Amino acid sequence: MILDLSSVLSEPHRPIDTSVPVEMDVFQSAQGSFPLKEKSELHLLIEYEKERKLQISGKAEVTAVIPCDRCLKDVEVRIPLDFTKKISVDPEETEDSDELDETNYIDGCSLDVEQLVRNELLVGWPTKVLCSDDCKGICSVCGQNLNEGTCDCEDTSLDPRMSAIRDVFKNFKEV
Ligand SMILES: [Zn+2]
Ligand SMILES: [Zn+2]
Repeated sequence: MILDLSSVLSEPHRPIDTSVPVEMDVFQSAQGSFPLKEKSELHLLIEYEKERKLQISGKAEVTAVIPCDRCLKDVEVRIPLDFTKKISVDPEETEDSDELDETNYIDGCSLDVEQLVRNELLVGWPTKVLCSDDCKGICSVCGQNLNEGTCDCEDTSLDPRMSAIRDVFKNFKEV
């Protein structure tokens, strides 16, 4: 959704205090695409600061479905979004300023809510997702989910990198 910023940008710079729906159903990133199962509304407070800067505060919460890093089972992960950022709306000033956030979601007088949410999800996205702390993962030989049962493969508990090293040793013996 596109939010019109003209009331906060023009005199008397009335703040925008609103809740808007998050329309995105799937979050796409370099890691893949992840369904967003539940989404709260995004509460936005946008205030004008001097010198054509805006302060944008936002709060929302989404629940994403992300596969477990070890066994690939779907895990529902709550991702709270809670941010405050200052951005410049002066076109001449958007470059070479470290403190200012990227403004790829602002275009003239409009704010692209989905793009803003996407940015924040990228920042808040969990780096590690496990279905449980003691997830046993999947067998690297047959693919059995070891949380759900065992398999008869040899050395299933062994890290695949270790078996590669073991093979190297075997080869040494044969020489
Ligand atoms: Zn798991
Ligand atoms: Zn196996």
